[in-house]
Amino acid sequence: MKFSGLALLRQSLGGHRGWDRQWRSPEPKAAYDVVIVGGGGHGLATAYYLASVHGVTNVAVLERGWIGGGNTGRNTTVIRSNYLFDESAALYNHALDLWPGLSAELNYNLMFSPRGVMLLAHTLHDVHITKRHVHSNRLHGIDNVWLDPVEAKAFCPPLDISERARYPILGAALQKSGGTARHDAVAWGYARAASALGVDIIENCAVLGIGRDATGSVVGVETSRGPIGARKIGVVAAGATSTIMDMAGVRMPLESHPLQALVSEPVKPCFPCVVMSNTVHAYISQSDKGELVIGAGADQYPSYSQTGGVHQLTLAVEAICEMFPMFGRMRMLRSWGGTVDLTPDRSPILSDTGIAGLYVNCGWGTGGFKATPGSGHLFAHHLATGSAHPIAAPFSLDRYTTGRLIDEAAAAAVAH
Ligand SMILES: Cc1cc2nc3c(=O)[nH]c(=O)nc-3n(C[C@H](O)[C@H](O)[C@H](O)COP(=O)(O)OP(=O)(O)OC[C@H]3O[C@@H](n4cnc5c(N)ncnc54)[C@H](O)[C@@H]3O)c2cc1C
Repeated sequence: MKFSGLALLRQSLGGHRGWDRQWRSPEPKAAYDVVIVGGGGHGLATAYYLASVHGVTNVAVLERGWIGGGNTGRNTTVIRSNYLFDESAALYNHALDLWPGLSAELNYNLMFSPRGVMLLAHTLHDVHITKRHVHSNRLHGIDNVWLDPVEAKAFCPPLDISERARYPILGAALQKSGGTARHDAVAWGYARAASALGVDIIENCAVLGIGRDATGSVVGVETSRGPIGARKIGVVAAGATSTIMDMAGVRMPLESHPLQALVSEPVKPCFPCVVMSNTVHAYISQSDKGELVIGAGADQYPSYSQTGGVHQLTLAVEAICEMFPMFGRMRMLRSWGGTVDLTPDRSPILSDTGIAGLYVNCGWGTGGFKATPGSGHLFAHHLATGSAHPIAAPFSLDRYTTGRLIDEAAAAAVAH
């Protein structure tokens, strides 16, 4: 069923009893051409583009819980593309280019809101590296600009640009085309569109093993709902990727860490854009419901917990209150965590694996929501054609043996 004003009117006359299920919930078939492990945004987007761009529709997305219940439904939804290195700029710009038309393409309101993403500079060192970043971005055609404190306050009035501020603001970088989107809607929109094209989305189906034949090629997966055959398997499981790849004997350069976020009680619109500070390591935006959405740093130790340490939350809230004293009396509603998959260079991995038929898309760590459409689009190309798309090629696994790292960790120190 297509969503439209007319459909809404028709349904309202019928008491909204005629809406269909958003995606089918079939029993798993014995075999598929492609099995995607992980029903987060990246896995679902991959399945959608396999079907819509490459005509590969005999595809299953296997999700151990509910779709979007991993990091896709737990993130703070910051979207931007102002990464430092050439390869990253191409990758994240590819994704950013897809966001504006995505609601119409999927016929699902993703609430994409390009309200601007601002990165604050509090020290002279911040000013130097942020300006270098802006110049590099502009050479890549990314709309990142440098603002002096007065210009920054004009764009984001809650900023305290007085000299007595605990963290004085010496300037800011602003990417106006960045912003936010509704995370659940991204998972649901891709699931609905993929399902309509014939993709089977199978929830409550945990992958427990990866089967291989005598030549070493993959032949399918063992799951909590029985064996499922497939000659191509794409693992897109964020913080669980290393455990799944271990089932095929592949050791991944990944560490899984908890990363947390929290939201306040809802208030009237008072915060117009996304503001991030690397120096104090906190960032904030306001959701369409009115909640302040606040992100913290990753826990320092590896863990599969989806909660995380209280000290990280405390640090983030303290920093936000120092930067925006007007929020000091607001009550926080809830906090949660996700398990993020960190690579040594904090850049993702989109790659084949040395095992015929086994592909992996992971390592998006603390910043992969923004890349969801681009990641799915590029990974679908890889799975359908057997070779990496030129934009994805630098992000192969072998960079950890050749040394051609894309070190966004050193470049930005934060990657939300
Ligand atoms: C608190 C927090 C804030 C963040 N903020 C931002 C942000 O502002 N901007 C941004 O760009 N990114 C952000 N991120 C990162 C972003 O959320 C992720 O990079 C992105 O959502 C990863 O999507 P995914 O589809 O790869 O993973 P997921 O959504 O985690 O999907 C992986 C799925 O695999 C499933 N799975 C695992 N094991 C198995 C198995 N054995 N069998 C079957 N299924 C399995 C899981 O249940 C899960 O649903 C944040 C993350 C967190 C946790």
